[in-house]
Amino acid sequence: MRIIDPHCHMYSRTVDDYEMMVLCGIEALVEPSFWLGNDRQHAGSFYDYFNHISEWEPKNRAEKRGMKHFCTIGMNPKEAENIELAREVTKGMLTFLDRPTAIGVGEIGFNNITPNEEKIFAEQIELAKKLNVPVIVHTPHNNKLEGTLRSLALCKEIGINPALVNIDHNTEETIQYTLDGGFYAGITMYPRTKCTPQRARDMVERFGSERILLNSACDWEVSDPLTVPKAARLMLRTGFSRAQTKNVVWENPYKFLAQSPKFKTLFDPIYNEDRAATV
Ligand SMILES: [Zn+2]
Repeated sequence: MRIIDPHCHMYSRTVDDYEMMVLCGIEALVEPSFWLGNDRQHAGSFYDYFNHISEWEPKNRAEKRGMKHFCTIGMNPKEAENIELAREVTKGMLTFLDRPTAIGVGEIGFNNITPNEEKIFAEQIELAKKLNVPVIVHTPHNNKLEGTLRSLALCKEIGINPALVNIDHNTEETIQYTLDGGFYAGITMYPRTKCTPQRARDMVERFGSERILLNSACDWEVSDPLTVPKAARLMLRTGFSRAQTKNVVWENPYKFLAQSPKFKTLFDPIYNEDRAATV
């Protein structure tokens, strides 16, 4: 099964993970900008990180292992509370969004659902709307439903095309709202938040495979870069057709990401090769 994982923090992983991911069928991934575990004190620290994920990582680690590496650039919600620093960071983001493998904005959203987080979130949605690029929205671990509903409402209010937005980390409680709004709906299989491949599989059975994207969000905590292939395998063994399975691990992430002309240009030839071969 060919796979795209649209949410991986490879900054925190080793090259062994790239090797295993490629062996398990993952051909492309997206690395959203995130919180590194200790709040940064300077805008320059963010710029160095954006530079790393948009230039150094794809060339020096991913490509050598046969992985197509893309990224999204954004001010994460956890550090957005410091609004002066956050604004300084977002002002400098355009340079990095211009990079050939930077395909959109993210991950942005809510952490504690505060007014400052909302301001920085809204400003970045405005930016994505202006640039017409995909956005990855992180929904909070606490007050998940409230955070998701407010994210959906904010996107609607700003008027960004919902098809450009992946509302991520959905649960059984939130996913129908996300889908009803016309957004892409990410399901993150992350052991700490207790979503297993089994639970993701069950959600696809209950809510359908349209506009649902599976991802690992593998990072520096307890996480697993192989959860997407594991879920695909489970789906194939428990009643799903190949086409249904392919929808959530390949077709939907492709359609979402190919709204970025850069993704389409760099990944389309490989994608089409498969199409021609399977006709
Ligand atoms: Zn993440």
